[in-house]
Amino acid sequence: MAGSDHPYRNWDYDVLIVGGSLVGLTLAAWLGQSGLRVLVIEAQGGMAGAPARVYALMPLTQMIWESVGLWSRLVPWVQSYSRIDLSDQGRHAVVFTPADLGRKQALGYVAEHGTIWPVVREFMTQIPTVTYWDATQLVDFHPAPTEVTVRMQRADQSLSVTVGLIVGADGAASQVRQQAGIGTWGWRYGQSCLTTVIQANAEPVAYERFWPAGPLAFLPLPQGRWGVVWTLPHAQAAGLVQVPAAEFLAQLAPYGPFEQMVLAGERRCFPVGWRQASRYVQPRLALVGDAAHGCHPVGGQGLNLGLRDAATLGEVLVLAHQRGEDIGQLKVLRQYERWRWPQVLLSLLFIDSLNRVFSQGWGPLVSIRAVGLRLMQRMGGLRRLSLHFMAGLWGRLPGNL
Ligand SMILES: Cc1cc2nc3c(=O)[nH]c(=O)nc-3n(C[C@H](O)[C@H](O)[C@H](O)COP(=O)(O)OP(=O)(O)OC[C@H]3O[C@@H](n4cnc5c(N)ncnc54)[C@H](O)[C@@H]3O)c2cc1C
Repeated sequence: MAGSDHPYRNWDYDVLIVGGSLVGLTLAAWLGQSGLRVLVIEAQGGMAGAPARVYALMPLTQMIWESVGLWSRLVPWVQSYSRIDLSDQGRHAVVFTPADLGRKQALGYVAEHGTIWPVVREFMTQIPTVTYWDATQLVDFHPAPTEVTVRMQRADQSLSVTVGLIVGADGAASQVRQQAGIGTWGWRYGQSCLTTVIQANAEPVAYERFWPAGPLAFLPLPQGRWGVVWTLPHAQAAGLVQVPAAEFLAQLAPYGPFEQMVLAGERRCFPVGWRQASRYVQPRLALVGDAAHGCHPVGGQGLNLGLRDAATLGEVLVLAHQRGEDIGQLKVLRQYERWRWPQVLLSLLFIDSLNRVFSQGWGPLVSIRAVGLRLMQRMGGLRRLSLHFMAGLWGRLPGNL
């Protein structure tokens, strides 16, 4: 712990996290449980984040939520699956099983934001060092050598606090990143992602089906519901949001594994892109989750990457705090950036190439893919390697995972 002579004992909070969605709250839990005083501010009243989003949750995410004591509370709201079925234009399926991860249990899980966010939020109320203000908008922040002053608006109240560190967990359009002047590299795909939920009676298998227009995933949810994530050229995706439900299902059916489907959710459309912030840290500032990076939804990686950021930054800050160091110093924050930035870049490039290689109908490439998938199905080592990568079980992990 810091001694009383340290200027940073005068901070109102040790860390201010902007954004109370799953990444921000997970970081808050990690830090709060180690005695750091955390304030989370969230612009939305009620639920933060995107209520209708369906997430594929990787084994590393389960480990992160287990380590903060959250996982057992989430179990009733997640659907496990023990098989991933990956195919190219309906052929050359590669099947992944728990043995490929050296596990006996599930390969992964699927959950809806709208059911798990309230559980995570409720969990926060039991950590006395974490304060959560909803309907609170960041106005601006001013870093100084020993603290950062943050101004915010809560209903008609203007508030100001001093903290040791501000963390941007405020999503793709991150105000924290923009106000800090941190640029991003990236591009947009000529594709949008259509998401919805259907009801279908089948075993829980995670399907990733590659078609020339883009990948299509069916993700099993509790109670026979399935999340659909269908990547298509913009105009086609936007058009399919508008057509009557029966026509939508008729268009979806030939590409999916089900004989019968019932539409059970709203259809939404999201443009997709690739983004990496040029820096993840500055003095007294760090970025996590979509504020730091963004990727194509194929493979369901975005939230999983963000939670790994939260665990990594959490570990770096807690260790610095235990050593009595000022957690907002650049030399501390750079440990997080050096650790996490290259790992994320590798994941983003892998996801990008997956989408590019499979979203093509060009004959020679289709043949090369067919050979590649056959090899993967036959060669356990290749299958295991790619699955460990997608499951997040590679590279340096925080010590307590
Ligand atoms: C179609 C689609 C499917 C996806 N599927 C998957 C999947 O299967 N698996 C997976 O891992 N990922 C998936 N993702 C990615 C995933 O949704 C994101 O990576 C994840 O939600 C990012 O979480 P976050 O907490 O960083 O940001 P967000 O969820 O965007 O949360 C940011 C929060 O910050 C708040 N905020 C913003 N600005 C301010 C401000 N100025 N002041 C206060 N609060 C503010 C917002 O209100 C919001 O609540 C998918 C994405 C898309 C588009």
